Amino acid sequence: EDTVARIAAGEVVERPASAVKELVENSLDADASRLEVAVEEGGTESIRVADDGHGMTESDLRVAVRQHTTSKIEGLEDLEAGVRTLGFRGEALHTIGSVSRLTIRSRPRDGSEAGTELVYEGGDAVSVEPAGCPEGTVVEVEDLFYNTPARQKFLKTTATEFAHVNRVVTRYALANPDVAVSLVHDGREVFSTTGQGDLQAAVLSVYGREVAAAMIPVEVDEEDLPPGPVDSISGLVSHPETNRSSREYLATYVNDRAVTSDAIREGIMGAYGTQLGSDRYPFATLFLEVPGEAVDVNVHPRKREVRFDDDDAVRRQVDSAVESALLEHGL
Ligand code: ADP
Ligand code: MG
Repeated sequence: EDTVARIAAGEVVERPASAVKELVENSLDADASRLEVAVEEGGTESIRVADDGHGMTESDLRVAVRQHTTSKIEGLEDLEAGVRTLGFRGEALHTIGSVSRLTIRSRPRDGSEAGTELVYEGGDAVSVEPAGCPEGTVVEVEDLFYNTPARQKFLKTTATEFAHVNRVVTRYALANPDVAVSLVHDGREVFSTTGQGDLQAAVLSVYGREVAAAMIPVEVDEEDLPPGPVDSISGLVSHPETNRSSREYLATYVNDRAVTSDAIREGIMGAYGTQLGSDRYPFATLFLEVPGEAVDVNVHPRKREVRFDDDDAVRRQVDSAVESALLEHGL
């Protein structure tokens, strides 16, 4: 039973970045306006996510780490009505807790004097005690995969694991400019957003002045798009001269969920045509609004790849939106 839980854990939490993703989503679901992510050694040594969200009571906490418990949906009706929170499966905390040493400190926003600290190790609660802490939640994950050597063997270098963490936190920071997001690696701040700006301000904080200055706005509604499932496309794309040799700076979202999609990427690349050298990619932070039925996002929790009923139409729509933004800038 323990072994089964650990194998299942590997499916959901494949590497430090997947744990970071789950914890960040929980903080955003908890309505946080501040979110701090600090990792050591690419997250393999420790991951700490602190938020000022709605927090948990002692009994919330005890329930939260159990398998398949979620406070976010109550039944099938909620699922059918469409899930608005980022999480709903109720697996993440339980899974992370079964392959690490997990400490959660939380204090609800209900005027409670103190909070609760829960320590969990390899899937068992070690202690639950009152603790002094600010409103909100701090989750600490130490020694990820200490009891799953097979999973540990697949971990790459610190630099690679941190690159994955950085990409995850960046994606959420760009999609939530109204949340102050910071990322610290081995004690050094990598970026922090103010939580008071728009997308342009978040791009400035995350990618720096030079990239922010090269960004061109994209804002196209249905009536100005070629036929297809996409209702609107908005965001920022870079001047072709500001490019990189990695796709990593293409941050794309469907209905506010960070996704990867061949159709979206090919649409973006198509709009630049020959203005980019071979194997060069622009910066792009692009949000697509698509009616739920035209898109299949409800795939494996770990995978971010989306498919559309009509990939070709989506590719043409994205190409057209980005191309007209570039054209407006004489490009
Ligand atoms: P899910 O997000 O799918 O509900 P999780 O295992 O990620 O499942 O979390 C379980 C529950 O723990 C959540 O439903 C939520 O009630 C609570 N929770 C987790 N993280 C936080 C947080 N940062 N702030 C407040 N509540 C949280
Ligand atoms: Mg969750």
